[in-house]
Amino acid sequence: RKVGYAIVGLGGYGLGQIIPQFKNCEHSRLVALVSGDPAKAKRVAAQYGVPESGIYNYENYDSIRDNPDIDIVYVCLPVSMHAEYTIRAAKAGKHVLCEKPMALSSKECEAMIAACRQAGKKLMIGYRCHFEPFNLEAIRRARAGEIGKLRYFRSEHGYTAGDPTAWRLKKAMSGGGSIMDIGIYALQAARYMTGEEPVAVYAKETTDRKDPRFREVEDMIEFQLEFPSGVIGSCMSMYSANRNQVLLMGDKGRIELEPATNYSGQRLWVGKGRENEITPPQGPGKNQFAGQLDHLAQCVLENRTPIVPGEEGLRDIRIIEAVYQSAREKRRIALKA
Ligand code: NAD
Repeated sequence: RKVGYAIVGLGGYGLGQIIPQFKNCEHSRLVALVSGDPAKAKRVAAQYGVPESGIYNYENYDSIRDNPDIDIVYVCLPVSMHAEYTIRAAKAGKHVLCEKPMALSSKECEAMIAACRQAGKKLMIGYRCHFEPFNLEAIRRARAGEIGKLRYFRSEHGYTAGDPTAWRLKKAMSGGGSIMDIGIYALQAARYMTGEEPVAVYAKETTDRKDPRFREVEDMIEFQLEFPSGVIGSCMSMYSANRNQVLLMGDKGRIELEPATNYSGQRLWVGKGRENEITPPQGPGKNQFAGQLDHLAQCVLENRTPIVPGEEGLRDIRIIEAVYQSAREKRRIALKA
C-alpha cells in the first residue's frame, strides 16, 4: 500500500517543492492538506486529487486523528510552529516529517521527540541532502579513503534575503537568522562529510543592524567546528550573498560539491583539483524530494527508524545554540558529548 501524507502549510516549500513530488514517489501519496486559506486549499486539492474530506485548517487540525488515510503529517510551516504542529500530530496518532531547522530551541526539539516517542510514532527531519545522489557519492568516497586522511572541511552557504517583513527575518518566528535557514546546510554537511560530531565551536557574527532586514536576526555568521580526529570545519552562513559550496580536504586530494545542497544542478569533483568530475549513480528516489518522502513511508511500512530522526535535528539545534553563544561571548564553546 502507499503511505498517506498530509501537508501542513501550503507555502513556497510545501506547495512549490513537496506537493508536486508525489507523482515521483513509489510508496507515498498525498491524501490531505492543512491550510489557513480555504480557497487555496480547495484549488490545490482539486489539482492534486485530494478529496474535499482531506482538507483541514489550523483550527480543526486535531481531527486528522479520525482520518485513517493520513499516516504521516509533513510540517512545512514557519519554524516557530514546528513544535506545536508536530506534537499535535503525534497526539493525533500520526507519524511526522518536520522541516528544518527542527524548532526554535533544543528544549522544543526535546519536547517534540518525547511527544512522538510517547505516541509510538516516527519523527523525521526534512534533511533532503541525505537522499541526494551527489552528496551521497561524496560521503561514500570520503569514507572509502579516496582523499586520504581528512584535514579540513569548508562550506559557504548563503542567499540574498529580500522582504524585511518576511517571517524568516522575525526572530520570534525563525529563531534566528541565516544559520537557522541556510547555514544549517553547512553544519549538516560538516557532520555528514566528516562522519564526526564536533566537540567545540568558535563563531563570529557580522551584521549591519541598520539594514532593515537585519534588525532582529543575523546576516553573516562564520563558525569553526573542532572534530575529535583533529579535522577542522570552517563554515560561513549569510543572508547577503549567494553561495552554495562544500569542500572536504584530505592529505591525498579533495572532494568538492558546487552547488552542494540546491534543489538540483549539483556538481561533484574528486581528485587534486577539478580535473575529475563525477556523475554519481542513481540515488534512493527519482530525486532527493521523492527519496525523502519514500524513505519515511518505507520506515512506516517496515517499522524502521528514519536515517534522519528527530535526534539529528536536535543535534544541529544544540550546535547552533553553541554557535550563537560563542558569537555573543566571543569565546570557544565546548560541546557536550
Ligand atoms: P513560506 O512562508 O513560503 O510558507 C509558510 C506557510 O506557512 C505558508 O503557507 C503560510 O501561509 C503558512 N503559515 C501559517 N501560519 C503562518 C504564520 N503565522 N505566519 C506565516 N506563515 C504562516 O515558507 P517556506 O519557505 O515554505 O518554509 C516553510 C518551512 O520549510 C520552513 O521550516 C523552512 O525552513 C522549510 N524549508 C525547507 C527547505 C528545504 O530545502 N528543506 C526549503 C525551503 C523551506
